[in-house]
Amino acid sequence: MLKIGNYELHTVINGTLRLDGGAMFGVVPKALWQNVTDVDEQNRIPLAARSLVALDRSANRLIVVDTGCGSKWDKKSAARYAIRHDPDALPTKLGEMGLGLADVTDVVITHLHFDHNGGLTDWYDEPGGKTSLRFPNARHWVHRSHLEHARCATPKDRASFVQADFAAVEDAGVLSFVEGDHPGPTIEGVRWMVSQGHTTCQLHPEFVGNERNLLFVGDLVPTIAHLKLGWVMSYDLRPLDTIREREVIYQRCLEEGLLLAFPHDPNHGGAMIAGTFHRPVVIETLWPNC
Ligand SMILES: [Zn+2]
Repeated sequence: MLKIGNYELHTVINGTLRLDGGAMFGVVPKALWQNVTDVDEQNRIPLAARSLVALDRSANRLIVVDTGCGSKWDKKSAARYAIRHDPDALPTKLGEMGLGLADVTDVVITHLHFDHNGGLTDWYDEPGGKTSLRFPNARHWVHRSHLEHARCATPKDRASFVQADFAAVEDAGVLSFVEGDHPGPTIEGVRWMVSQGHTTCQLHPEFVGNERNLLFVGDLVPTIAHLKLGWVMSYDLRPLDTIREREVIYQRCLEEGLLLAFPHDPNHGGAMIAGTFHRPVVIETLWPNC
């Protein structure tokens, strides 16, 4: 088990999806990216939809970072992205810890793209009807400027947002806001980093330990295959910012031993990085094959 500060940290795969390999690797030619990932007949690559789970038993604090695609998908959309959501994955992991969904005190929404926040709610009784919160007792942390962006997304990123998903959470009155470029801590033992490359004000929790910290990098570095500095996604609104933000993160990996947790790697939940910030290399995986 990985422990950082007072937090036990776990990764949970809520399900899988497939997205177009060209979109996932931007200007990188397929001749290169097909060497580091599988690809299907529709040119889609396999991705996991992970949560990071953090438990501080002494403070009775249970944090879930991102929640996967969720189960509220019609057949056509689910087939387009090959979405397979496992609604039991997170409850099973929490059950092994002697806890349940109702014990979650804090949910961190890195950003409101459907593959990160679809699991915040379920259909209440019938598909297409009302929704209910999966984490009814939790504060739901999101960056205020990101929510404002998501409400009026651009033609480039509109398809990544399912407005009804986060409108339901907003209406339930459980949102807690983080604001500004350098927000102070709002959860004990957790710092915030805010990035602009992938989307406006993506929110990254950094768990603070005595010897080393762990950063959930979200879609700044969705998988280990995206570690190379210039291998940024076509989805990114500001790809040059993504590269600059990666440089800062990788420099901290090399200087401070900062650990990284990924949202979409199909095989590994996180990694320890060495090399240079131009050419980072994985020297150890966290939660290997998990
Ligand atoms: Zn995203």
